[in-house]
Amino acid sequence: MKLLQTTYNNLFIQTVSHWDIKGHNALFHVFVPFNMQNNIDETDKVREILGYFYPDIPVIGCSATGEIYDGTMCDREIVVSAMIFEDPRSRVEVFPYYAEKDYTNMEDLLAIAESTPDLKGIEILTAAPYQPLEAAGEIMDRLPEDVEIFGGVAVGDEFQKSFIFANDCEYSRDSSACVMYIGPELHIQTDRMLGWKSIGYPLTVTRSEGAVVYEINGMPAYDVYNHYLHIHKDNNFFYDALQFPWEVQVDDDTTYIRHAKSVNPDGSILMSTNIPEGSTIRITFGDPRRMMNHTKQSGSELLKFSPQVVYVINCFGRKLFWNDNDDAEVSEISRKLETTGFSALGELLRYNGTTLLNNLSIVCVAMREGPIKKKIDVEKEIKINESNIPVTHRLAIFINTITDELMEKNKQLNEMLYKASHDALTDLLNRGAIEREIYDTCDVNSPAHNEHWHLIMLDIDDFKALNDQYGHSEGDNALKALADYLKTEIGKKPAVEVGRWGGEEFMIILTDYDDNKVLELAEKIRKDINNIPSPSGKLSVSIGVTNHHEFEAALRTIDRVDGLLYDAKNNGKNKICSDLN
Ligand code: GH3
Ligand code: MG
Ligand code: MG
Repeated sequence: MKLLQTTYNNLFIQTVSHWDIKGHNALFHVFVPFNMQNNIDETDKVREILGYFYPDIPVIGCSATGEIYDGTMCDREIVVSAMIFEDPRSRVEVFPYYAEKDYTNMEDLLAIAESTPDLKGIEILTAAPYQPLEAAGEIMDRLPEDVEIFGGVAVGDEFQKSFIFANDCEYSRDSSACVMYIGPELHIQTDRMLGWKSIGYPLTVTRSEGAVVYEINGMPAYDVYNHYLHIHKDNNFFYDALQFPWEVQVDDDTTYIRHAKSVNPDGSILMSTNIPEGSTIRITFGDPRRMMNHTKQSGSELLKFSPQVVYVINCFGRKLFWNDNDDAEVSEISRKLETTGFSALGELLRYNGTTLLNNLSIVCVAMREGPIKKKIDVEKEIKINESNIPVTHRLAIFINTITDELMEKNKQLNEMLYKASHDALTDLLNRGAIEREIYDTCDVNSPAHNEHWHLIMLDIDDFKALNDQYGHSEGDNALKALADYLKTEIGKKPAVEVGRWGGEEFMIILTDYDDNKVLELAEKIRKDINNIPSPSGKLSVSIGVTNHHEFEAALRTIDRVDGLLYDAKNNGKNKICSDLN
């Protein structure tokens, strides 16, 4: 396949009329600067001329903010490019409009896609809002993994709304158009370039709704920008924050870059797309040099595929980031590759099986007909010259190294603290830790203080006999089984802590439970333990239950529950003794 391009200029008719397209299947892309005067009228003329010379060739296009022409990012002119297929079996099908709000339409599209042999890729140009787009992606993800899905979000602002168009249909400002790329010898490979470097600790989104993030690590989301970066709630927020987007971890091997669009007076932040509650995020920073190296590396990787045309969807945010040098990356990619494409408000890509909107990325769609034609020397890993890196980058390395070291130390400390407070055999709180819980609850000066608490103490019946008869390791297994039961069935209840008090004795503290509830729970424990399998057939416990009396020392409550447990033993075991009521 090959690519022809022109801008809409004085020579447009002449240029286009001489294009060697006749007899080939082809596709026109038209990218229109969103803020150009009379852009719709001008686009009408372009479409009319294309239709006049090439009535059978499909067209798709959208509003953009930077259109790739001749390997650079052009900003002020409509760019028309023709992808021309050499193999007569390669072709495209354009589906002008489907509204993502209407999912039955998406299902229709999916059905067509599923019944199209040799479908290799689907391009989506959209002016639809994010929400339905994500739902549409979910439907398309039912296609086989090897169908590439890619595209971009048309560009607009509050004055000049984004639009898409296809074939001879009207302009649409709230739906999508799509292209199916088909052919037995047509090959498509997609990739995305990010290049942002994460810095600092992983943080957790503790409260969010859609794209609005309210809290991070339990603090107002804006504090992250304020505390770590001194980025203020002013008119510059968007541009300042753009240099420090977030890396959002979706699963073990998928991350996305998301940026802040604005900050609300309550400290919540409107992000570029939905950020699910519970997501782990890290702040990233863009070091131009590092990003450039990343782009070079990815561009050089693309060469292995031996593409004939590379369709590039570049994020407008990346363009803002590069400022005066805004076509640096596109020029780099275009050095050895034929490129077309535009700067979008978001880049659609199916990545690891999921079609999602990317931000601040460059999506590259490499296309080729037939086998890899020539062997291209792929540049070896591009090494950063370590002796001459900018101070900002060196500081980021410093921050990352320190953060990693601190995180490792923190992990070790947490492990030590865990070991110090947990029993090795049963993994329950150990005697020291459950005692501390009880004393803290009783202590009026402790933040954990509560006047209203109960103790349930239990001791396995005839455990010595089990040990003697079946061996110590069978005894251990019974202890573990009982501890697992207490941990999962009892310890997970709110305001309940379970600990191993001694050999085969366990202590449970419950705060703010009423007497009846505690007795009910003790009875449940007694019965449930009868059903835990044990080599001797039946496992049973004797149980003491009491509550804390006003002004008494914790030790008194403990002594009393111990006494009640003793009473239960003397009353025939597998019993509960309580002094409640
Ligand atoms: P009772 O019904 O009166 O409670 O009788 P018992 O046999 O359960 O009570 P006793 O206190 O005489 O025996 C407790 C036994 O628990 C003694 C000890 O060997 C055993 N034990 C304590 N800790 C462990 C442990 O970690 N593993 C095993 N297998 N046995 C333990
Ligand atoms: Mg016992
Ligand atoms: Mg005992």
